[in-house]
Amino acid sequence: MSIDPAVDLPFFYGSISRSDAEQNLKLAGMADGLFLLRQCLRSLGGYVLSVVWNLEFHHYTIEKQLNGTYCIPGGKPHCGPGELCEFYSKDADGLVCPLRKPCLRPAETPIKTGVFDKMRENMLREYVKQTWNLEGESMEQAIISQAPQLEKLIATTAHEKMSWYHWKINREEGERRLYSGAQPDGKFLVRDKEGAGSFALSVMYGKTVYHYQVIQDKSGKLSMPEGTKFDTIWQLVEYLKMKPDGLVTVLSEACINGKTTEKTPSLPATRRSGANGYTPPPRAAAFALSTTNASPKNRDILPMDCDGFNPYHNPNDIKKFNILREQLMMDEEIELGSGNFGCVKKGVLKTEAGQIDVAVKVLKSDNEKMVREEMMREAEIMHQLSNPFIVRMLGLCHSESLMLVMEMAAAGPLNKYLSTKKDSVSVENIVNLMHQVSMGMKYLEEKNFVHRDLAARNVLLVNPQFAKISDFGLSKALGADNNYYKARTAGKWPLKWYAPECINFHKFSSKSDVWSYGITMWEAFSYGGKPYKKMKGNEVTRYIESGGRLESPPACPERMYTLMKECWTHSLEERPDFKKVEESMRSYHYSICGKAKLDGATAADEPTKQTERRK
Ligand code: AMP
Repeated sequence: MSIDPAVDLPFFYGSISRSDAEQNLKLAGMADGLFLLRQCLRSLGGYVLSVVWNLEFHHYTIEKQLNGTYCIPGGKPHCGPGELCEFYSKDADGLVCPLRKPCLRPAETPIKTGVFDKMRENMLREYVKQTWNLEGESMEQAIISQAPQLEKLIATTAHEKMSWYHWKINREEGERRLYSGAQPDGKFLVRDKEGAGSFALSVMYGKTVYHYQVIQDKSGKLSMPEGTKFDTIWQLVEYLKMKPDGLVTVLSEACINGKTTEKTPSLPATRRSGANGYTPPPRAAAFALSTTNASPKNRDILPMDCDGFNPYHNPNDIKKFNILREQLMMDEEIELGSGNFGCVKKGVLKTEAGQIDVAVKVLKSDNEKMVREEMMREAEIMHQLSNPFIVRMLGLCHSESLMLVMEMAAAGPLNKYLSTKKDSVSVENIVNLMHQVSMGMKYLEEKNFVHRDLAARNVLLVNPQFAKISDFGLSKALGADNNYYKARTAGKWPLKWYAPECINFHKFSSKSDVWSYGITMWEAFSYGGKPYKKMKGNEVTRYIESGGRLESPPACPERMYTLMKECWTHSLEERPDFKKVEESMRSYHYSICGKAKLDGATAADEPTKQTERRK
């Protein structure tokens, strides 16, 4: 799931062996300074730089440090493998020669995936499962949207969540626990080593328990004696599940720490007790909500910490659509927004699992039949959708007026939020949010729905790190064999967000949503700016037809503007779909996340159009 930061480098081969690297360099002519990059088979997240000099091969290990930097031992740290190679192309700085010519990976040769890619994925999965109690699709969405942030968390605290970690117990207690129950070869536990800051590993083999010290070197790296070194105990355990690395056997089944297992079904501390005092019963934990948005200690809040990441319903309850009036408490004072249908009010919904903050779209009681039908259609669409990055409908309440009850996105519309927080929201944060929007839109595309009103005003924030797509008032479900919706007549349309085929032929598809996504990106990177500010809708249409496009917002990274322009490809066939857009957003999000954390720099420090022009 995670994207290797070297994946875009044309001289990166992935997990190939030393001899394969040498073979490739031979084929490319053995010029002095010819080089390629490959994944290190021994250290997680590390690389090897293979260089030719004087018809000989030189291989340099690049280590990934705990702080996220990359360096050749003894050399300077760099924020990514690409930056490291660029540095050594200007200055040998201890290498046999400067890097002169990249040995390019042939187009037909894919990057070879390695054991560590799989391991990294397993770690992420288990961590997400243990920490937020997520499974299935929610787990996938959590991992894809937050992989860089999760990897950082995992590096420091993951073992505490693992069932094989038994905290501080002595050797005898370790043996007692391993001997209780089944005794298969490879059954293991990890405990704190008495008197030292490191760990001990106890493993069952042939009905006998063997104890190993985990060695910690000066830089804090962990290993078995003479074995491969790792930054964390968790990585070491995952590795020992595949290779014995000096142990009597590979690790297999975890000897489960009863205490950890007891903790497993509950929610992490940040989700346990809500602002309104609601504590979900353990039985409800899998689908219950947190009601707090308090930031966890020592780290940024993640979408999974919040209300609304998981489906709200008990899966057995999902078909229930009608909400009883007595379940709903409305805050008549607070109006979140309004439209021609009526207004959106703040409320609280009482469910079996506890109380949920909700937004209630209330139809004006004197409203005409058509608006009522429109709202019912919106509800029908929303009812069919369930994704963390789409506002969920919780039900309809037929009472003094028709009410559409939705989960609450308390921080409001993206454009308003950004325009009031210009100085405090980083570009990296915007990329994270827009990646989430692309994930929600990819989901809609897969389900064959068109949104038809994607705009920053319709992206609502649960909090500054968590975005959801809203307003399905214009949305349509496409038939199984239809990939577009044809509107019979033009309506009150948001023309500045619409692709040419919508305006010219009234044709709406996921590809036309992609065009709107590009405009939404533009709004986001211009901190809530208004697209085509001084133009009228029909002037915009002419401008687009004559090849004109919005300019890059000042703070917009080059790669993001390139993607926007791709979204504004006139030809529908050549325009990317959301699968492709999400991939590009993901790749960029992952690539800047680690870097921005490094030295406080943000993606805004990347060359933007403006800074490039100045050069
Ligand atoms: P809509 O007609 O759906 O665009 O809603 C009008 C306004 O109501 C939006 O611009 C938001 O400010 C507010 N609103 C709508 N839905 C929600 C929600 N689920 N959570 C918080 N505010 C909302």
